[in-house]
Amino acid sequence: MRIVVLTGGIGGARFLLGVRAYAREVGAEVTAVVNVGDDLRLHGLRVCPDLDSVLYTLGGGADPQRGWGRVDESWTVKDELAAYGAEPSWFGLGDRDIATHLVRTTMLDAGYPLHQVTEALATRWQPGVRLLPATDDRLETHVVVSGDGEPAGSPVGSDATGGPGGSAPPDGGQRAIHFQEWWVRYRARIRTHRFVFVGAESAKPAPGVTEAIAGADVVLVAPSNPVVSIAPILAVPGLREAVTGGPAPVVGVSPIIGGAPVRGMADSCLAVVGVACTAGGVGGMYGSRATGGLLDGWLVAEEDAATVVPDVTVRAVPLLMTDEAATAAMVRAAVELT
Ligand code: GDP
Ligand code: CA
Repeated sequence: MRIVVLTGGIGGARFLLGVRAYAREVGAEVTAVVNVGDDLRLHGLRVCPDLDSVLYTLGGGADPQRGWGRVDESWTVKDELAAYGAEPSWFGLGDRDIATHLVRTTMLDAGYPLHQVTEALATRWQPGVRLLPATDDRLETHVVVSGDGEPAGSPVGSDATGGPGGSAPPDGGQRAIHFQEWWVRYRARIRTHRFVFVGAESAKPAPGVTEAIAGADVVLVAPSNPVVSIAPILAVPGLREAVTGGPAPVVGVSPIIGGAPVRGMADSCLAVVGVACTAGGVGGMYGSRATGGLLDGWLVAEEDAATVVPDVTVRAVPLLMTDEAATAAMVRAAVELT
């Protein structure tokens, strides 16, 4: 059996722990197609937050409290950068984490495509599933905003301090900022108009992605952020078509339980695109494969058992990824829905 998972970072990585456990039980092969829309260059380094969350989590090197970055992390480089006043200061890179970005950037600069770099990093972490970036090409999520917003940590109502990329035009006009600036610096507390996947039109699926989808027995959509983790994957031309036109049934798992994200700010993202922050809202946003959408099946939490998505088989099971066994049970339910 071959399983393909479309996934973002932290939520997706926890889900993949369960997919891997289930796959070991039944002898299945897993390919994870990972979002790259969050990727950015910082201090000359290429950072891939979602790929790294998946690598560290599956490789046993993630910080379980923070949910992102490395366990036993130290912050000497960050402190030194701050002493220079080097911007951006709102995105912290830990010392251990920086080694990953150094290796990745060196390989990219030498001409290796991202999927090969990811494979090389995975030889250390041995994630137990095949990891593919959705694309090797530049595809960055930007956010069109206006006004000053409130940088994270500032008292409510205070003025933004500006800084590179962060100062608002005096007329309060619209400007695009990188997704990470919106998420980490402003914590989504800024007037937001829309998301743009820069570069998506000319991006191609990374080698192996459409082949994996065409050869899959089931495609799972992880309970990742639908707007900024799953949508940028599907924005790669040819990728959505490979899934919707492929032979495998497609089953999604809701990241929204009882009208709220389990963690993170998916509610803010859904508000921007005008989708209700409910299991039904997200299921409806993905839509039924029978009518031009994505899904054959939609797994929701027990409290959302009344959810209806037209032409999609909905099933309610416990959806909290409390541990690997509970998550593997979710995965079994998703596979058995097909
Ligand atoms: P990110 O890229 O690091 O933001 O992570 P993802 O996009 O992969 O996952 C974020 C989503 O995971 C959030 O919308 C959460 O609601 C969802 N999530 C986190 N923990 C759980 C859980 O235990 N169960 C479910 N169903 N969703 C979860
Ligand atoms: Ca992410």
